[in-house]
Amino acid sequence: MALPELAPDEILRYSRHLILPDVGVEGQRRLKAARVLVVGVGGLGSPLALYLAAAGVGTLGLVDFDAVDLTNLQRQILHGTGDVGRPKLASARERIADTNPHVQLESYETRLTSANALEILRGYDLVVDGTDNFATRYLVNDACVLLGIPNVYGSIFRFEGQASVFATAEGPCYRCLYREPPPPGLVPSCAEGGVLGVLPGLIGVIQANEAIKLILGIGEPLIGRLLLVDALGMQFRTLQLRRDPECPACGTREIRELIDYEAFCGVATHGASQDDVPELTPVELAARIGRREDFDLLDVREPHEWAIGKLPGARLVPLGTLEEAAVALDPTRPIVVYCRAGVRGAKAVRKLQEHGFNKVANLTGGIIRWSDEVDPTVPKY
Ligand SMILES: [Zn+2]
Repeated sequence: MALPELAPDEILRYSRHLILPDVGVEGQRRLKAARVLVVGVGGLGSPLALYLAAAGVGTLGLVDFDAVDLTNLQRQILHGTGDVGRPKLASARERIADTNPHVQLESYETRLTSANALEILRGYDLVVDGTDNFATRYLVNDACVLLGIPNVYGSIFRFEGQASVFATAEGPCYRCLYREPPPPGLVPSCAEGGVLGVLPGLIGVIQANEAIKLILGIGEPLIGRLLLVDALGMQFRTLQLRRDPECPACGTREIRELIDYEAFCGVATHGASQDDVPELTPVELAARIGRREDFDLLDVREPHEWAIGKLPGARLVPLGTLEEAAVALDPTRPIVVYCRAGVRGAKAVRKLQEHGFNKVANLTGGIIRWSDEVDPTVPKY
């Protein structure tokens, strides 16, 4: 297929590429011909989509279903303060079009699922994975292996990140590295565990770099290597990865179609197991406090979260210390527990029930819903 020509204003725009011997006019025309799908326009997707657009990648597909939230702005540089509440795709499109109007944007305002992934991914030369959860990561990997499209992977947590290039003809895939997802709840998400704001910038730019190298066919992409980035120690290490002949995706090829990734990662069962936990709403709790009912109110978050804000009359008992603390609690007294969003609270209730406490309840939606429905002066985070 003939490569597209560059217009005079494109020649000027990309001049610093054109004078690079490894890129040149032909490389720039390759970039213009390239079709890259960016899954998620959040922390990783922001820098990588901006740099791919600025570099002159001709067609960018963008997949996201979320709206911009104030907590995104600490790292998701595609979106601004005025975009809060708008669809992420709307602000992403505007920002990218301003960076480079020559880029064709194809947007998919949907959650990537087993039902639509093959249809969306098909026709792209490369997929860059900017997702933040295991279910979508396995979905992207398996879809890339099935379609034979390289998957430029990145992930971040707190002060650490990883990047690699999976699902190429010669290299391993994500399942060669991690055959099975971790048990649900074992690895906290960035929403639960936090992430340094510049970290997705570091990793997203590395993903953009790998994507551009793959398009140009230059350098040594991270095929068969896992890059580990430690932002605190500022160390970059690479581990050699080998293709696993027993890998169900790229080895034995027993995965012939996309599966239910939520179930595979235990997301569904994880949610369902909270249903049997006694709960009370913020309004009900406020009423009990107002009536000066006699009960213990336990905050099962961590001390640094307690420092952000707490409920009146609460006692701090971090979840990890609950079993020790339970010895000193009266099992005949009613207990209400709460956390940030309700998940750890539910775990705390189950733990206390195992120790013979039967008048325990969890505050539905945690401190976030308390702030929304009872007292907005208690900060959400
Ligand atoms: Zn594999």
